[in-house]
Amino acid sequence: MSKNTPKAIRGTQDIFGPEAEAFAFVVEKFHRLRKLYRFRRAEFPVFEKTEVFARSLGETTDVVSKEMYSFEDRGGESLTLRPEFTAGIARAYLTNGWQQFAPLRVATHGPLFRYERPQKGRYRQFHQIDAEIIGAPDPQADVELLAMADHLLKELGINDVTLHLNTLGDAESRESWRSALIEYFRVLKGELSEDSQERLEKNPLRILDSKDRKDKPFLADAPKIDEFLSDEARNFFAAVTSGLDAAGVKWVRADSLVRGLDYYRHTAFEFVPDEGSVSADALGSQSTVLGGGRYDGLMESLGGPATPAVGWAAGIERLAMLVGERQAPPLEAMVLLEHDDGLAIANELLAKLRARGIVSDIIASGSVKKRYDKAMKQEPRHILRVNETGYYGVSGEGDFSHIDAAINRETE
Ligand code: ATP
Ligand code: MG
Repeated sequence: MSKNTPKAIRGTQDIFGPEAEAFAFVVEKFHRLRKLYRFRRAEFPVFEKTEVFARSLGETTDVVSKEMYSFEDRGGESLTLRPEFTAGIARAYLTNGWQQFAPLRVATHGPLFRYERPQKGRYRQFHQIDAEIIGAPDPQADVELLAMADHLLKELGINDVTLHLNTLGDAESRESWRSALIEYFRVLKGELSEDSQERLEKNPLRILDSKDRKDKPFLADAPKIDEFLSDEARNFFAAVTSGLDAAGVKWVRADSLVRGLDYYRHTAFEFVPDEGSVSADALGSQSTVLGGGRYDGLMESLGGPATPAVGWAAGIERLAMLVGERQAPPLEAMVLLEHDDGLAIANELLAKLRARGIVSDIIASGSVKKRYDKAMKQEPRHILRVNETGYYGVSGEGDFSHIDAAINRETE
């Protein structure tokens, strides 16, 4: 590399090889499950007007106040690279009149951008899979979304991650809880971290989410949401938890889990690696793999009608780290061209094999003497030899009747 070759942008990754296979595996499993659970596929713009995020996430959130990639375009409009999916999906729901599809189940995946301090499992461009149910007021929507999340982790072979579940109550319960938190923390203000002092009046729930050592000693005794839940909010949460129990989804109560964004109501959740587990080791301190909740107030903040909704997103890179490195599917058949005059026959064979879904490749270049060694290096299950007069046989271990069938040849 020459000294004047531009470097990649800090916090971005070029993903390749076994890591890219793990990434693709996560995405494939996700889309298989979203079909099983009847979520419709959708694609959304990577950028939106800045106000889409500023209004729906709230100005005081970390994402809006510190992490957004915002810029003016040539027309002088302030645009932002999406830092999350939900706000843009809500915008799309309103501008496209998707109310007609309610309750709408949508699923998508793609890149997100946040100006963060890059470290393991934390990037400036990262990717998420995302699932949302919009226009569904009932706890059954929460149950199904969570069941899909849990199912996905199991399908990925990740068994040491647990659902941490909380309720933030309805608007009324959340407001009383908020006041109680302000009262509790105000007395301690001088001892809190700088960030939390700032959060105190604007966004006191976020103090509970603090990872700062200065704040930690005061968190355990902070007022709990349970003291403030209205009957309606309590019943809603009970319906979610009993639904999860019936569906066999394991969960633990996490009564100080608040999530970073302002728009959450009722259910809030994260899937977190179990303490001391292999997944906890793999992810270090960046431990949430999947998070979400109910955001009944979001559509109104974008000028739309009150629309109950619930959703989650998971970091593909973090899930891929837990999946571990994966290999591309094994090479089933290698066509070995032993004489260049057989090239047409070789291509015909290859086409037949691939049409049958048999992973295959060809070695047809370089010195004829070295082709066999080259083919063996790729570790194919079977080698199909082709010379100038035609195809003359399969070698390799195990059954190869499927290969014979693909190329219309009787198994010997
Ligand atoms: P964290 O507490 O780790 O900052 P968050 O609350 O900001 O997470 P969400 O906005 O809920 O994360 O995003 C959902 C998921 O997206 C996270 O659980 C994580 O897997 C992933 N994620 C978020 N930010 C990043 C990032 N900068 N790099 C990689 N993955 C990320
Ligand atoms: Mg974050």
